[in-house]
Amino acid sequence: MDIDEDYDSEESDFDERSAVEVYPHSSPDEDFESSSDVSTLELDLPGHRRYVEPNMEDIPVPTDNTFDVTLPATHSYLGQNLEEVRGRTILDDGIYINLPLLIKQSVLFPGQTLPMTVFGAHTIDMLQNCIQNDRTFGVVCYGHPEMERIGTTAEIYEYTDGGVWMDHGRREFRLKAKGRQRFKILRIITQDHNKISANVKVLPEITLGPPFLDQRLASLDRLRVFPDSEEDMKKQERVQNLDAAVTAWPAWVYRQYDPIRLSFRIRQHLQFLETRGGSIPKDPVDLSFWVAQNILMDHDERLTLLSYDCAISRLQRELKYLMEDKIYVCVNCESFIGTQSHMFPMNKEGPQGTYVNPGGVIHETITFYHVQGVMLSDAAPSTEYSWFPGYAWTVAICKSCHHHIGWKFTAVLNNLRPKTFWGLTRRSLKNNKKK
Ligand SMILES: [Zn+2]
Repeated sequence: MDIDEDYDSEESDFDERSAVEVYPHSSPDEDFESSSDVSTLELDLPGHRRYVEPNMEDIPVPTDNTFDVTLPATHSYLGQNLEEVRGRTILDDGIYINLPLLIKQSVLFPGQTLPMTVFGAHTIDMLQNCIQNDRTFGVVCYGHPEMERIGTTAEIYEYTDGGVWMDHGRREFRLKAKGRQRFKILRIITQDHNKISANVKVLPEITLGPPFLDQRLASLDRLRVFPDSEEDMKKQERVQNLDAAVTAWPAWVYRQYDPIRLSFRIRQHLQFLETRGGSIPKDPVDLSFWVAQNILMDHDERLTLLSYDCAISRLQRELKYLMEDKIYVCVNCESFIGTQSHMFPMNKEGPQGTYVNPGGVIHETITFYHVQGVMLSDAAPSTEYSWFPGYAWTVAICKSCHHHIGWKFTAVLNNLRPKTFWGLTRRSLKNNKKK
């Protein structure tokens, strides 16, 4: 079974090469000039290392941004004629249900938007069936040797009316769905070609309050605040010390399990995104999924985070992860590409958005204001099907190995800021610890 991406193998004539591009151009080998250098910060002189990590302080963060970051979240490139579905399906924690499944390359987290263009008749039928019922299907990752046993329900909230377009002679169905609840596969019911359904258990999301909630000294309640600054956090620590005095354990033990404190620390690490116009959730559960989705982590790391039933465990693991200064390298040749501190949110939902190209391929795309070690296609920038309205894209590849890395986006209007930024596809990057 071909589970590679988001179209059915039975009707797809797209090969791996076209699948990585936003739009099927001619092959990258013909399209790229080996000499085109887009980074002014690279030194390529005899006796120097080919890629020199710049002094991060030297690269200015774009200011005076005029781009409406709510636009990419609407996925307007899918067209304006999508039917909206109202209401929301919430499945009871712990219930057993039968779900049709789609297998994807990447983990879907609750809260994440999933835009899709689907071509295969089986998958279109399945999705249209879903819309008639509770609009919910399951998303799981492919794994070895079988698909992963854990996944996330996705609820369709917009779709192309009628569902059938005759475009390029193929049947085409476009939709937008939202990640909702985690589930575990108990039993596969059918697995016939691209038609898969399973009996699943909807996993509970266990929410625990601050650890002193039951034993707290009520006389101190007037001093409790939701910490928004280091000063507030210090005040809360003093209150917690008093709370802990009436228990057998010291306050620092409890602090490790305090969702509010963990959230505060994570948001401190990601404050640079807020200063660049991004918004980060405050609610511990939302934040725990948001970090898993938006910060580049290995596939296995993301699956582990999805398997936890409680935000506290997720936040603990994420905080540990964020404390290490990470660099991003090419997944293929490990050339240095960028750092976490160069991320720049161009979508109100976060620096990493999920977008679909006309071939049905889903790209989780992280936006940066600076990258290096990449070069551009010599094709003219195109605004066609652009995920960021007002910006034209140019395909970018790794300078060392020519592996597809993402796109450079260039403003087509004079007053649009930032003038340029980069969108790198998650699957082309991996992270390494800074040496
Ligand atoms: Zn490379």
